[in-house]
Amino acid sequence: VPVVEFDDVTVCYPGKGTVRPAVVNINLTVSKGRFVCVVGPSGCGKSTLLHVCSGLLKVTDGAFRYQGKEWSKLHPGIGYVTQRETLLPWKTVLGNIALPLKINGMPRAERRDRATDMAGSVGLGDWLNAYPRELSGGMRQRVQLARTLVTEPALLLMDEPFGALDAVLRVRMQEFLKSRIEGTDLTTIFVTHDLSEALTLGDEVVAMAGAPGSIDQIDQLEDLPR
Ligand code: ADP
Ligand code: ADP
Repeated sequence: VPVVEFDDVTVCYPGKGTVRPAVVNINLTVSKGRFVCVVGPSGCGKSTLLHVCSGLLKVTDGAFRYQGKEWSKLHPGIGYVTQRETLLPWKTVLGNIALPLKINGMPRAERRDRATDMAGSVGLGDWLNAYPRELSGGMRQRVQLARTLVTEPALLLMDEPFGALDAVLRVRMQEFLKSRIEGTDLTTIFVTHDLSEALTLGDEVVAMAGAPGSIDQIDQLEDLPR
C-alpha cells in the first residue's frame, strides 16, 4: 500500500460566492521510503497538497488515501516542517526537541535520551543547553527538523523549509538533509518553488503547472537521470 495516494483530487477552500479550486484533478502516489519533491510556482497549490496529506483539509472531489485509508480525522504519524520558526525561545535545544515527547507523556529520562540522540544526529550534540537565540538560522532549522524527527513520523511533510535561509546556507542544509535522510526508510514530501532544490533532493520530482484547472496540472517524473 502506498503511503500517500491522490486519486483525481480537487480541492476548493471553503468560501462564499464563486469558489475557484486551489488544485484540480491531482493524481500522485508516494511509496514508502521515497523522497518526493513537488515543484511549481507560488500559488499553484503545493501547500494545499500538504494540508490534504496532514488531514487539515478535506478533498472536494476525488479521493485521498493515507496508508490505504480515507481518513475522517487528522492523520496520525505526520511530521510537518515549514520555514516559519516555531521554536520556544525559553527552552533549550534539548527542551525544544523533547517537547513533542513530553506532550505525548513520555517519561522524563527517556525523552531526554531520545532528544539527546536526535540532537546529535542533526549535528547539535554540543548545543544541548543553548537557547534558540544563540543559534544560527540553519542550526535553528536543524532543531526544528530534529523536533519533528524525534516523533518518528511515518510521513515527513516539508513546505519550503529552507525558504528563509540565504543561498549558501540553503545549499548546505540541502546537503545535510540529503545525508540525514538517505538510507532511512522515511517517506518524505518536500515542496519548493526552486527546481534545482527539487532536482538535488528528490528521488522523484513532481512538477505542478501554475494555473489550477489546466488539464495536465501535474506530471510525476520518476527515475530521473543523474
Ligand atoms: P503554493 O503552496 O503552491 O504557493 P497554495 O497551496 O498556498 O500554493 O495555494 C493554492 C491556491 O489556493 C492559490 O490560488 C491560493 O490563493 C489559494 N488558497 C490558499 N490558501 C487559501 C485559503 N486559506 N483560502 C482560500 N484560498 C486559498
Ligand atoms: P521539562 O521537560 O522538565 O519541563 P525541558 O522541556 O526544558 O524540561 O527539558 C526536556 C528534557 O530535557 C527533559 O527530559 C529534561 O530532563 C532534559 N533537560 C533539560 N535541560 C537539560 C540540561 N540542561 N541538561 C540535561 N538535560 C536537560
